[in-house]
Amino acid sequence: MTDTTTGRNSADDRALVDAIEVWAEKELRPVARKFDLADEYPEDVVEQMKELGLFGATIGEAYGGLGLSAGVYAQIVTKISSIWMAPCGIFNSHLIMASAIERNGTEAQKREFLPRMASGEFRGSLGLTEPNAGSDLQAIRTVARREGDHYVVNGSKTWITNSLHGHGTLLLVKTDPQAEPRHKGMSLLIAEKGPGFIVAGKLKKLGYRSIDSCELSFQDFRVPADRLLGGIEGKGFVQTAGGLELGRINVAARGAGIAEGALQLALRYSQERSAFGKPICQHQAVQLKLADMVTQVESAKRLIEQAARKYDAGERCDLEAAMAKLAGSEAGAYCAQEAMRIFGGYSYSVEYEIERYYRDCMLMCIGEGSNEILRTVIAKQLIDRHRI
Ligand SMILES: Cc1cc2nc3c(=O)[nH]c(=O)nc-3n(C[C@H](O)[C@H](O)[C@H](O)COP(=O)(O)OP(=O)(O)OC[C@H]3O[C@@H](n4cnc5c(N)ncnc54)[C@H](O)[C@@H]3O)c2cc1C
Repeated sequence: MTDTTTGRNSADDRALVDAIEVWAEKELRPVARKFDLADEYPEDVVEQMKELGLFGATIGEAYGGLGLSAGVYAQIVTKISSIWMAPCGIFNSHLIMASAIERNGTEAQKREFLPRMASGEFRGSLGLTEPNAGSDLQAIRTVARREGDHYVVNGSKTWITNSLHGHGTLLLVKTDPQAEPRHKGMSLLIAEKGPGFIVAGKLKKLGYRSIDSCELSFQDFRVPADRLLGGIEGKGFVQTAGGLELGRINVAARGAGIAEGALQLALRYSQERSAFGKPICQHQAVQLKLADMVTQVESAKRLIEQAARKYDAGERCDLEAAMAKLAGSEAGAYCAQEAMRIFGGYSYSVEYEIERYYRDCMLMCIGEGSNEILRTVIAKQLIDRHRI
């Protein structure tokens, strides 16, 4: 059957989601702990993800991608994250960069970058955060000065995921540091690595390991002027904000996946482990946890579906995407913590996988708009939509 909003065949989409679930069980589950504990980049997994088409998942078919809807993409991210969340990061921020190019780029930029990105030959990242500016992106200090047919970039970024193993970044800069309001002086550059693009150091992380998050330094780094996204200065902040909804559906799906994976591990362990003469799942205190966990997982999934449906239909969905991100990420944090309690002392052993879910979950509450900021977004939207 063909979906009338996306034009895609739903049987094909279901088959793809099923195939990715089989791949993740077979190829990811057995290696996740080893790569995570060694904090080692999973090269083979990246090659397999290229073959599955994941680097082009949401890129349009006209540019060599799979052209998946946000709804199908969220299901894939949830499935993979229920087993191991970190590999999603290798294609997530890459796809947010691709989506920004597809939405805002010139035709030449799309033709130059999207096919290479869809195949995974060019793997991208999002270069937004700086040491002094995360939530408040308008406070960034990286400056791109126009010199002839180039921009010369100086400044630094931090926490840029995929920047060591990737090939370039969508770089948020100030092209007019004096502009008021501040966002009018901000632009995005499609920055391929080259002289002056310095990966200053890979950060050691609590969780979300194996994937590289790095400090970057730009020292007279020259970017051809035709790499200014969309070709007009001063649009960078608006272009970044335009990608937030898909980004939030992404992170929501990762959080829901962590929640679902933690629930599955706890459900199994609670039937295997006995205390006081019976499996611990027969103790009411453990049952209360399982009940709350599955309710959070399913509520988050429904909110993600709602946001994705609106996104795919081209409707405004900032409220829905924010609620999905809040619910998905908090479900991940809640379920990982409750599963730790169900595993008791063994939760502290790296021989058991649950500790990885616990280390990975908090990032979902921080990235793509912290949950504190998202609550304010939700409340403002709610009031706006119900003005008396
Ligand atoms: C593992 C990891 C990977 C990352 N990958 C990337 C990446 O690939 N690219 C990239 O650009 N960035 C990346 N980041 C950065 C991430 O996006 C930022 O950490 C995030 O945006 C928060 O910014 P901050 O850390 O500067 O916190 P701050 O903005 O300093 O916030 C600190 C606290 O203050 C609160 N706060 C701030 N402002 C408000 C407000 N207006 N109202 C209410 N509360 C507020 C926040 O909620 C938070 O609790 C990554 C971060 C991590 C940890």
